[in-house]
Amino acid sequence: MTKMFGTNGVRGVVNQDMNVQKALQIGKAIGAVTPGVTAIATDTRYTCDMLKMAVSAGLMSVGCDVIDLGSLPTPALQYYVRTHSVVGGVMITASHNPPQFNGIKVIANDGTEASPQQEEAIEAKYDEEIAPVSWKDTGHTSRYVGAADDYVDAIVSKLDVEAIREANLTVVLDCTNGAAFYTSPLLLRKLGVRAITLNGNPQGEFPGHPSEPTEDNLQDLIKMVKATGASLGIAHDGDADRCVFVDGEGNYVPGDKTLAILARSIVKENGGGIVVTPVATSSVIDETVSSVGGKVVRTAVGSPKVARRMIDDGGIFGGEENGGLIFADHQFCRDGGMAIGRMLESIIKIGPLKEQVDSLVPFYTVKKKLVCPDDLKESVLNFLDENTANIRKDTTDGLKLIFTNGWVLARASGTEPIFRVYAESRDKAVAEELASKYEAMVDEYLSSF
Ligand code: MG
Repeated sequence: MTKMFGTNGVRGVVNQDMNVQKALQIGKAIGAVTPGVTAIATDTRYTCDMLKMAVSAGLMSVGCDVIDLGSLPTPALQYYVRTHSVVGGVMITASHNPPQFNGIKVIANDGTEASPQQEEAIEAKYDEEIAPVSWKDTGHTSRYVGAADDYVDAIVSKLDVEAIREANLTVVLDCTNGAAFYTSPLLLRKLGVRAITLNGNPQGEFPGHPSEPTEDNLQDLIKMVKATGASLGIAHDGDADRCVFVDGEGNYVPGDKTLAILARSIVKENGGGIVVTPVATSSVIDETVSSVGGKVVRTAVGSPKVARRMIDDGGIFGGEENGGLIFADHQFCRDGGMAIGRMLESIIKIGPLKEQVDSLVPFYTVKKKLVCPDDLKESVLNFLDENTANIRKDTTDGLKLIFTNGWVLARASGTEPIFRVYAESRDKAVAEELASKYEAMVDEYLSSF
């Protein structure tokens, strides 16, 4: 069987490993597995129309109707799917990847990302001959232009709009030339927040900066926050499911700290509750959530795993350290728009972002990555497991070694020939020492081949 779906759908460089033929066959396979009306949307990449039309043609050829929502953030498509009687959705996006990439992400009918079982079923169909239906049973495409407004209105309805309006805030919003353009400026306008916008034109080659919202890529945002005295800087990735922040003094706030701050604010407001995050996330979340009477549940890496665990365990908030934040009172998927709303509330009700970041217990994380052929990944893990016999372990994803003064996570990448070693401690020297020690162990083992 072809293994197409990675952690976040099928992706590749367009007209090399992602092309019209592949998109057409994926469309047919999706239609064969989940027949019925399917909603489709795209981010702002140049190649989106081509792939959208190919997937749509595939769907229609097997008898499915398509509703074209246009260009939108992924969570806006997910909101549409959850609130309408469609069998699912398809998002054309490569998220934070460079502009030559594009991809196809399948959304289940509850608005969450497709389960591994659904993806496996689509992959199995993909490899088969899928018979087209008779000409008179082929599907049609209709357009719906209101999905951005619906998504924004749903977010606004969950927020304390009056308090946000009264605070009279100015923020700088970096749309990254991506799908955020269609919703985040509108959201801020409806909340009465003055937004100074950067890269606020949808442009598929991402001329402003690469679409991954890293500190390096957000230097213009940082400068603009400092120059304008804004209370907050906001940035999204290409499809605006992720959201990262810059504090009022122009400091980039790492995603694990944002996660901890919003978790504290949400758990406090709920008087307790479960927060879900993968094993790789900093321990700052445990310290912060337990300080307000909440509980942290850990999952394997990947936002669909976090979302599904939140549904199963009744989690009120969850997310990843890369700015992917999931709010149970809105929807079970990464939600860049809702992240803005909750961050604004947190600033107004708790205090400036800088103060909130400074109040967190400091942890130091060191991340190493080693080149590792796919066929050796499992034996590296086994080797580490055998050579760490008396250490406390967590095997939720890879191997997490837990020490009294820190932890090490050894984990193979699911998408690249890479093995990662993360170490964390409250003591910087300990974090560095742990990372170097286990990196050296993996390196030595790999060089024996
Ligand atoms: Mg994304």
